[in-house]
Amino acid sequence: MDYVLTTDALSKHYGHFKALNECTMHIPKGAIYGFVGKNGAGKTTLIRLICGLQKATAGSYRLYGMDSADKEIAKARRRMGAVVETPSLYLDMTAEENLKEQYRILGLPSFEGIPELLKLVGLENTGKKKAKNFSLGMRQRLGIAIALAGDPDFLVLDEPANGLDPQGIIEMRELILELNRKRQITVLISSHILDELSRLATHYGFIDSGHIVKEISAQELDAACRKCVRIEVSDTKALSWVLDSMKVEYKILSDTQADIFDKINITELTLALATEHCEVRSIDEREESLESYYVNLIGGGEHE
Ligand code: ADP
Repeated sequence: MDYVLTTDALSKHYGHFKALNECTMHIPKGAIYGFVGKNGAGKTTLIRLICGLQKATAGSYRLYGMDSADKEIAKARRRMGAVVETPSLYLDMTAEENLKEQYRILGLPSFEGIPELLKLVGLENTGKKKAKNFSLGMRQRLGIAIALAGDPDFLVLDEPANGLDPQGIIEMRELILELNRKRQITVLISSHILDELSRLATHYGFIDSGHIVKEISAQELDAACRKCVRIEVSDTKALSWVLDSMKVEYKILSDTQADIFDKINITELTLALATEHCEVRSIDEREESLESYYVNLIGGGEHE
């Protein structure tokens, strides 16, 4: 697979404290990589390291195949745009003036691309309004426009939904999806809002105490969180026997409980169980959410 970013045992220590502890992650080209972890897990630290804002204590990373120790790493970094923590804006300037300033900083030859960028982030009608009078969502979107000024193909967003109202969250989601699907921009988004990430991410990296506990694709996660029917009966031995004869996939959880993964005809199952003198006590449709998956992962102790 083609990776935009890989990190290899990347670490950042503050004295004895390991903010990032041998963090190894892989971001495939074209992905929306959801970087999930509670507050203080080390997400911003990792982002600051790959943006070159801080130096690692140990370990390395590769950006577009270029090693972090390479003198040319700054060149690879030019293909990357980032909004780390709160976007750095000139509050006394309009959206357009902010973008012009960024174009000047990057030494871009013309301001031609600015109207399109403003339109892309939904700020084309803000006119003379200064950034200080923008809503938080508008400021976040202006931050993204600034990060996009150099036409990067890798965008790094640190908690972009933080503090946004529901409408702001929807707009942010639509913008990220558009950037990824229409402009083929690979996106790294850190967040502790799992539910929001699950509407976007194609891949996940779960971080806890500075360490990646698991990386998983959205497809694999869907399979891990797949729907099932939980059934409670008087005797799971009889249930096993009946389910085997129906060629259904299931998992026995206890003497009285099992999860059934295939679609089943409940009436047929209940009748078959009745002839085995097995009583059905309850039947529930279940779906493990991303959140419960995450809690099981972090709380489980078994780190892969
Ligand atoms: P996240 O972004 O996942 O919320 P951070 O990367 O910001 O987490 O922080 C990881 C840990 O490192 C936190 O416990 C934080 O307090 C600590 N930390 C961050 N910066 C410093 C610093 N300059 N000095 C000491 N500890 C720090």
